[in-house]
Parts: sequence; structure tokens; C-alpha cells
Amino acid sequence: MAHLALYRKYRPATFDAIVRQEHVVRVLVRQIERKEVGHAYLFCGPRGTGKTSVARIFARAINCEHPVNGSPCGRCAACLALAEGSLDIAEIDAASNNGVNEMRDLREKVQYPPVTGKYKVYIIDEVHMLTDSAFNALLKTLEEPPAHAVFVLATTEPHKIPATILSRCMRLDFKLIPQEDLERHLASILDGLGRRYEREAVAAIARAGAGSDRDMLSIAEMCLAYGDSLTYESVTNVLGAADDATNAAIVSALLSADAGRALEEAERMLSEGKSVGVLLRDLMSFLNSVAIAKSCRDAEKLLALPKETFAAVARIAQAADGAAILRATDILAAAETELRFASSPRISLETALLRIAMPREDLDPEALLVRIAALERQVAALPAGDAVSAPPAAPLPPCGKQTERAGAIPPEEDIGSAPADEPPPWELPPPPEPSYAPFEDAPFGAPEENDLPSAPARKAAAAEPSASERREAAPAPRVPDGGQEDPEVVFGQFLRRLRKVPKSGVLYTLCRDLAAGMEDGTLVLTTDVRMVAETLNGERHMPLMREVFAELGVDRFEVRYVSDEARDARSGLEQLKKDFSDYPIEIK
Ligand SMILES: [Zn+2]
Repeated sequence: MAHLALYRKYRPATFDAIVRQEHVVRVLVRQIERKEVGHAYLFCGPRGTGKTSVARIFARAINCEHPVNGSPCGRCAACLALAEGSLDIAEIDAASNNGVNEMRDLREKVQYPPVTGKYKVYIIDEVHMLTDSAFNALLKTLEEPPAHAVFVLATTEPHKIPATILSRCMRLDFKLIPQEDLERHLASILDGLGRRYEREAVAAIARAGAGSDRDMLSIAEMCLAYGDSLTYESVTNVLGAADDATNAAIVSALLSADAGRALEEAERMLSEGKSVGVLLRDLMSFLNSVAIAKSCRDAEKLLALPKETFAAVARIAQAADGAAILRATDILAAAETELRFASSPRISLETALLRIAMPREDLDPEALLVRIAALERQVAALPAGDAVSAPPAAPLPPCGKQTERAGAIPPEEDIGSAPADEPPPWELPPPPEPSYAPFEDAPFGAPEENDLPSAPARKAAAAEPSASERREAAPAPRVPDGGQEDPEVVFGQFLRRLRKVPKSGVLYTLCRDLAAGMEDGTLVLTTDVRMVAETLNGERHMPLMREVFAELGVDRFEVRYVSDEARDARSGLEQLKKDFSDYPIEIK
């Protein structure tokens, strides 16, 4: 079959066929009808929004002898001549011709009058790619153009165009094309081709086009090559989206605090060759659908998902708490940003999944809200008489000095947010010997990619800006045992080793954001979360910490809580010293 890319085949020939961008078309048509064509235009906007198509139609329309509603008639001598390809319309791709020679050449040739029509049109695509000297050469032409010359400059990055050029152009901004317009366009093309299609498939392709008609048509083309009719399944195959059932399984596990299952399913997707980035995006998109199903009445129509997928989405939305959905989306979005700096994307993903599935280990206000909501649901589900005995003041771990906040949030025995009929492992009676994980199946210790991000990467990854301040809190790094100089390095080794210990997931999560410093030969680990310090100093985790540190030859270490006020006071003092540097200020 003669192959012609869809987006070439369906390249619009008249202004009416341009998808969206009416605001641009209206201006141009008006100028054509009034015969007030300018000398230079700048078309700005994202790729695939129709800049080049509009430029080509415009170039023919201003030469056409009898334009129809501003568009070229396609029948007059000029239209026929230009359709053949003519010297009168020149397209220059600045991305490959960014040299000053091309612009000088243009400057010379532009002086010759047009062969067929009234105007010679130069369409310079990706004009921001021109070099400075090429811009200068172009500027000379724009300053005194011959009457028959029209320039259409197109760019995705208008901020890179020199002001001297901008000021000589009429600027027109192209917008991203809304999903429903893309869908309509694709459906009309498919109808024209006589291909059968599922509405969900068209919606998915339009979504993947992300506002670009050209991108959408390229994707549609790949999907059409897959089979005679366009099915949602073929589309997800081509787009490499995780199959919906797996997405549903992961999201459902995350929102019901089943970290083990979430990690298992994720692991399976990765082992099937999906990249971490794609999986993250798929999960976010699925969560987004869940959020929409949670909050919109006509979600089914809005989402246009296949029946079974929507059923799964609706089921998850109904069971989940709104705050939990938002929190999960936030964490995944942060992980996606982090990916760019992470030396091991897989660990970023796993950590994000763990944080979502273990709101009880996370002391962000959002996580606490999720826990409260889960608790409220459980209390509401209890038979009236039992309500009093709901979550009793849970036994606290023996944890040194600070206890004031402990009553509010029992750190160990927990609420969880799993359905009441099937208690998650951490609600079962504690095993005789210290257990370090509520998620027994968590596939920690996956082989190759098991290394933690290097110390600087971890610093970049630490969410709170306070992390560096905390690090400053522990001064004077010193050598604990020959060779190891940086406490961060020692602590990094500790974390790596800890990760390989079976069932150490909770401890690992707690330790991850500690800042390491050295004081008088003692490795001092600090946190500004009191609960973390208390829990780590408790009986449950300390023995394993001791053991792992001992393997590294570190026998003196401490976990400390550093209050915000202490840090504020310290930085206030620094400021005071700076402001009054002439005065001797004693620090007590
Ligand atoms: Zn014509």
C-alpha cells in the first residue's frame, strides 16, 4: 500500500480545515480580504499546533486570484502553479540552515520578483535556531524588504528571538489544541478512511497527542498499522501504557496500605521492560482518573475509559479517601521530578511507593490527615457498643526524654487504613523477636540496582530545604575509624548495608532522611522530627542499628532530635554575629 503519513495526507489545504487556532486564522483572513498583507509575521506556539500548515495556506492565499473566504481557491493559475512547488514559496528549516550564508543568499534572491503570483513567501521554521550573525543578515532584509516579499517566521521558542527582529514582525500565538478538538479531528479522519474505531481508543490517542495535532496523527498511524480496526487494546499496546489491570492493582494496593503488593506488581512491570519514568507517569495518570471519579458526577463521560477500567477506577475511588489520593499523586509527582537527578531511578520509585503505602511512617501533615481519615472510617464502621475500645492508648516504645506529643500519635501500634475485616500484618500481635517490617514480602534486595544514590544525590533528593541546615548542626567531621572521613559517607554505607538486611524496611525509611555529623568521635544522626528520634531510640530498632553500625566498625553513635527552634536560634545567633561583627559576642 502506498504509504503516506497521516499528518501529511491530511495536511489542511484551507483555513477552514485548521483545527482550532481561529484567533490566528481570523486575523490572517481579514488581512487577505482587505489586501493588507504585511511583510513579516512571527508564528509562535508549541509543536504540532499548525504553524507551518497555516503559513503554507497563507502563502498560497495571498497569491490566489480568487480567494474563497480568505483561503486559496485551488483552481486559478497561481494556485495550480504553487501546488506544483514553486520558487515563489521557499521553506527554510533554520534548525539545519542556521548559517549566515543561507541568510545572505536569501537576501540576494529575495530581490528577484516572483515567477507566478504577486508575492514571494519565505517560511523560516524554527527560526530561533539561527545564529547571531544569521539573525543580523535576516534583519537587514526585514529592514528594507522588496514590496513582493513576505516572511513568515515560525518558532516554538519566541523568547530566543532578538528584539530587533520581534519588533518588525506581526506576532501570532498558536495554542495547544484541546483534547475534544483532537478527538473530533481524528474521528473525522477515521470516518473518511472507513476505519472502525472504539471511542475510548480515539480518546486515548488524543490524550497522548497532548495538544499537538501532528503528534496525535503520528500516534494514530502507528496504532492503525496494528490492525484493521482501532481498539483501545491496540492503542495501549502501541503507547506502551501499563495494562490497566496492573495499574489498578498497584494503585489499589497503595491506597489500602499494602506496600508489599504494590512493590511486587511494580517490580513485575519493570521486569517486563517498562521504564521507571513511564510506570510513574502511568500510575499518576491512573490516580488522576481515580481523583476525577471521586469528585465528578459525570466522570465516566469525562474519562472515556473502557468499561472494565472505569469500573476498577470507580471501585478504588469509592474505597479511597480524597486526601489519600492527593497525597499519593503528590509523592509520585515529586518522585518523577527527582528521577532526573537520581542515580538509581528504581529506588526513587520504590521509596515513593513505600511512602504512599505507609502513611504511618510518614509524619507529613498530609500523611497524618490520611491516618485520621482512616481511623474515622474504622470508628464509624464499629458496632455502637465497641466504639469506646477502638484504638486504645497504644503502648509507647520506651523512648527517653520527650513524651509530650507521643500521646497524640502512637508511633508503633497503628491504625493503618486497610479494610477492617482483614487486618494488615502490623496489626497482628507482635512476633517474639524484633520484627523490622510490616510488609514481609517487600522485595528489598533486588540485585543490580540495589545501590543507594550517592551522598550528594541523596542530599538533592532530601525533600525539605532544612536538610542542609540540619547537617550544619553537627559540626567538625572527624575520622571515626581509619580512612572514613565524611560522616555522610559512613552513614551512606550504613544505609546500603541496612537495605540488604531482610525486614528492615521500616527502619530504613525512618533513617533515610537523617543528617549525619561527627562530634568528639561520635557519629551524631539528627532529625527535626521528634517522633523519628524517639522511635529510633526505642527498643524495637536500636538493636539492629547497633548491629549494622558495628559491622562498619562504628560503635559510638547517637540519634538526636534537633528542634526547629534550636536551629532557628542558632541561625539567629549567626545573623547577630554577622550584623555586629565589631562586637565580641560570646555564645553560651
Ligand atoms: Zn486560487
